Amino acid sequence: MYNVMSSKAEEFISHEEILESLSYAEKNKNNRELINEILTKAREKKGITHREAAVLLDCELEDKNQEIYALAEQIKKDFYGNRIVMFAPLYLSNYCVNGCAYCPYHARNKHIARKKLTQEEIIKEVTALQDMGHKRLALEAGEDPVHNPIEYILECIKTIYGIKHKNGAIRRVNVNIAATTVENYRKLKDAGIGTYILFQETYHKESYEKLHPTGPKHDYVYHTEAMDRAMDGGIDDVGLGVLFGLNNYRYDFTGILMHAEHLEAYKGVGPHTISVPRLRRADDIDPDAFDNGISDEMFAKIVACIRIAVPYTGMIVSTRESQKCREKVLHLGISQISGGSKTSVGGYAEPEPEEENSAQFDVSDNRTLDEVVRWLMEMDYVPSFCTACYREGRTGDRFMSLLKSGQIVNCCHPNALMTLKEYLEDYASEKTREIGDKLIEKELDVITNPKVKDKVKEYLANIHSGERDFRF
Ligand code: SF4
Ligand code: SF4
Repeated sequence: MYNVMSSKAEEFISHEEILESLSYAEKNKNNRELINEILTKAREKKGITHREAAVLLDCELEDKNQEIYALAEQIKKDFYGNRIVMFAPLYLSNYCVNGCAYCPYHARNKHIARKKLTQEEIIKEVTALQDMGHKRLALEAGEDPVHNPIEYILECIKTIYGIKHKNGAIRRVNVNIAATTVENYRKLKDAGIGTYILFQETYHKESYEKLHPTGPKHDYVYHTEAMDRAMDGGIDDVGLGVLFGLNNYRYDFTGILMHAEHLEAYKGVGPHTISVPRLRRADDIDPDAFDNGISDEMFAKIVACIRIAVPYTGMIVSTRESQKCREKVLHLGISQISGGSKTSVGGYAEPEPEEENSAQFDVSDNRTLDEVVRWLMEMDYVPSFCTACYREGRTGDRFMSLLKSGQIVNCCHPNALMTLKEYLEDYASEKTREIGDKLIEKELDVITNPKVKDKVKEYLANIHSGERDFRF
């Protein structure tokens, strides 16, 4: 029985409700009147239901599809402007006891190099990341109670926040680790994490169980209810995601929106972010073995429809996607991207030797952070290294109400310009700095409040003279 307010996974992600929604969408994919009604509701920018979004995803009317893309773009602009927040993943350990069929870290893979960073290695890796200009990390680790217990993760977070190298600092550590207990989530909260990220992989229980044949991750219910436990443990920024390509995309698209609706209705705060990874080739993994791959066109449509359905959520696309594909989806709703990423355990401080390959997947976008930053600016995006909200205590419902009212833009835009300026001063190549300084000059005109504008100018000048870490 579907119940958005239930604490039970199989009720807030009801299989029957998903099937009914998909059949409703299939029946109405050319229903112009209904699609118009949904689009009218969507234009209010307060979101639409999973069922309505499923209709838009299936819509086959070319003119309406163009309206869907235009609306997604407009919502992206209204909530996030032209800013793109930058981050990098840091893999701590690839020891894992699970048997995930799509991940090379699965326990049966005996030939992949197993690694776990020591605290000394973390200092080297994070120093290298700081020297690239990163301020925001996403920590990744396999599930292994012996090699990667919660104490290890907590120690790593403490080490990372403590590293101050030249003008560098990691100001927000997001964490992507296996589903765990309320008690452990509380420990992560106390350690000062930003977002807790956990991908559902697929919401289809039967497929989920087949794809996770062994290990604690096999437990669909425990995994699906993890975000509720994280929130019970005090973490109010959580990040959802499915791995597109594993299962039918229409099913998982509907499932992730139901999960977002559940968190908002039941816990009062929807997902801080939604990630849209697609299955990639990796050691011991052939994506062709999964017959649910989606085209770039459908991927773009998924991004657009999530943006319309959950206007407030941040949307993340990683270096799993190529430059071309990232370019296509950026304007449709993506607000965060990774740059200069390594998906191996270590590899930032020194490249990993070929024979020691520990990567989780092949990266499609291999450019340096400087190249990614310049590429974004050449398309008139403002790369942002901002982490202000979390540090100002603007998280959870406080953050959401500022975001939904549109007020957050008054912080985001100046913060983006100031953190970009820091990046340009400390890390950028000459060419990138030149483009960036011109962009900042142009973007200052967008600030309409004269007091704010003067303050930003003052802070920018201070940054140029060597001061750091200004924020609104
Ligand atoms: Fe382990 Fe995560 Fe890979 Fe599964 S996806 S094998 S849990 S690292
Ligand atoms: Fe994100 Fe807050 Fe910074 Fe805006 S001000 S970019 S919402 S951290």
